[in-house]
Amino acid sequence: MARAIYPGSFDPVTKGHLDIIRRASKMFDNLTVAVLNNSDKSPLFSVDERVKMLKEVCADIPNVKVDTFSGLTIDYAKKCDTDVIIRGLRAITDFEYELQMAQTNRKLMPSVDTVFLTTSLEYAYLSSSIVREVASYGGDIHEFVTEGVAARMREKFSTN
Ligand code: ADP
Repeated sequence: MARAIYPGSFDPVTKGHLDIIRRASKMFDNLTVAVLNNSDKSPLFSVDERVKMLKEVCADIPNVKVDTFSGLTIDYAKKCDTDVIIRGLRAITDFEYELQMAQTNRKLMPSVDTVFLTTSLEYAYLSSSIVREVASYGGDIHEFVTEGVAARMREKFSTN
């Protein structure tokens, strides 16, 4: 059974992430979207909030589940019994870092491969950090995230 994981911060999940999730879910029998619990970063949304939003936006995709992990992605991949890590590529700036990560992971665990999906052009500019910035100034984010996520962001910034 072909399985893959799609790891990331998803702070918050954007329409760009969702596009990658939908496309990857058609390529594999099972896809796990894995939220990295990274204690070094100070995220806008807690891991629980990010998982909740991901579960909502993926609710109509039956072969996708949402999980969390900490530590190395390849260790998590092994734990899930998968040899495929999905990553999205937007621009040349993503490429350098992603190539380095993929090659490091191959060194650490040669059986694990990274599969890159290139962004759909309409989302090529989109990142969670841009969405956070626009939302923090009260800008309109409905093109970038689903309505549920936009509502949570408005709530976050109205209480901050
Ligand atoms: P990280 O903090 O690990 O970069 P992100 O949550 O930002 O995690 O993104 C997870 C993955 O989704 C990364 O591979 C990233 O390149 C990809 N991604 C993010 N935004 C987009 C987008 N608009 N189009 C395609 N891929 C994207």
